[in-house]
Amino acid sequence: MEVTNDNGCSWVNDLIPRTNIKSLQSNEDCEWLIIGAGYTGLSAARKLGQLYPNQKIILVDAQLAGEGASSRNSGYLVDTTLNDGFTSNKELNNYKKKADIYELGIKFVKNFINEYQVDCDWNECGKYFASSKKSDQTILTNFSDTLSKLGFEHNILSSNDLSKRLGTSFYNIALHTKGGILLHPGKLVRAMIDVLPNNIFLYENSCLLDWSKVKDKISCNFKNAKINTNKIIFATNGFLKSLGIKSNYNFPITLTASMTRSLTDEEFKSIGEPKEWGVLPVRPMGATIRMTKDRRILIRNTAEVHDPAKMSKKDLDTRSINQKIGIKKRFPQLPDNIIQSSWSGIVSRTRNSSQIFEKIDKNIFAAGCYNGSGIGVGTLFGEQIAIKASNENTKEIETIEARNKPTWLPPQPFLNLGIKTRLIYERLRARSEI
Ligand SMILES: Cc1cc2nc3c(=O)[nH]c(=O)nc-3n(C[C@H](O)[C@H](O)[C@H](O)COP(=O)(O)OP(=O)(O)OC[C@H]3O[C@@H](n4cnc5c(N)ncnc54)[C@H](O)[C@@H]3O)c2cc1C
Repeated sequence: MEVTNDNGCSWVNDLIPRTNIKSLQSNEDCEWLIIGAGYTGLSAARKLGQLYPNQKIILVDAQLAGEGASSRNSGYLVDTTLNDGFTSNKELNNYKKKADIYELGIKFVKNFINEYQVDCDWNECGKYFASSKKSDQTILTNFSDTLSKLGFEHNILSSNDLSKRLGTSFYNIALHTKGGILLHPGKLVRAMIDVLPNNIFLYENSCLLDWSKVKDKISCNFKNAKINTNKIIFATNGFLKSLGIKSNYNFPITLTASMTRSLTDEEFKSIGEPKEWGVLPVRPMGATIRMTKDRRILIRNTAEVHDPAKMSKKDLDTRSINQKIGIKKRFPQLPDNIIQSSWSGIVSRTRNSSQIFEKIDKNIFAAGCYNGSGIGVGTLFGEQIAIKASNENTKEIETIEARNKPTWLPPQPFLNLGIKTRLIYERLRARSEI
């Protein structure tokens, strides 16, 4: 499967285009090969580069590094989640294990930006879980109970407070968590590319087509060449399944998002000049919506089973119209034509929303499946899978490995049928929140 993406992502288009892009043109032999250059693969490469300055380490990506989901997300670095996939977080012990991983994720991203002095529009403003339905108070009260038991600072807000803070009277109830960071995902992942150690060979626009293990070597076929490696780390997240990695445990989901241009002074005044904020939905299929620090509005209100390799322009336009309606519902005073770009991105999910972090076979490792928490958890898992692949242990690996493991999925066509039915059901339940 060849991976291609639309080039409409505002986060990517904010950045200066990179130069000196190399793609794989001749056969290579290496000690380490990492497939996928998003947060996970780049963090694994950075760690391996530090651990093994004298070994040959290759990192490949099917498209430009960092320009998959790592640039295409909504930019919430989360400390807590309400809907992780479709799992409600009822079981306290399991929720705590997840939150421990999120906490480490935040710490690792923070360490990274401090060490390399990265400007990625970091804002520790927390986040809202908001709904237009007053009846969702029950969900938020239960969630508040879970957060209190685990010591997360938060408060519940009603419509008056919300309209002042968000500049929209759409929402009637919300829970604000003090923890959680908003950032520019494109700037963060670009910094990870810029600081790759010198001993990492990065090949882009080079798609792994298939791979096999022959004795102790792993042989990888690309369009124009082959790579033989001693050790391999799969960091392709939404594309793990297409490479045969833990196929019965993960599946890709396509998300689409749109971003407006910056609001003019007048438009910004008309919504009350709110500070930067981020809203996550109370219901799984509701919209994620964010006001950026430069007054742009981002909306993500789809999650679907779709060909992960490509979304056509026509399909993207249909979704973009829905996103325009989503913005209009919340900000009726703004003009109709302010969406500047729309894009799709692929995430990976497991049945019980648990992540993949493991040795698949001797010298073969994989990390992924973070759903909406990949900024922090991907950065953490990337570094730690490199350490695990070096046969070392850390207390972070122990925390990661204490989580519930992904559970088995039914085969096709039952799998897609089940996912599609669930997505339609959840979309219906959240229809007012889209
Ligand atoms: C619209 C959207 C909103 C999101 N919002 C958030 C959010 O607010 N907060 C959050 O934490 N997470 C969010 N996520 C999820 C987050 O983006 C991912 O969890 C994260 O990017 C995973 O990082 P990764 O490096 O594992 O995978 P990716 O960023 O997907 O990188 C994998 C790379 O592998 C490459 N690849 C795939 N197949 C091959 C192949 N055969 N050969 C070579 N290379 C290959 C791809 O080109 C890609 O660059 C969102 C995602 C989307 C799409």
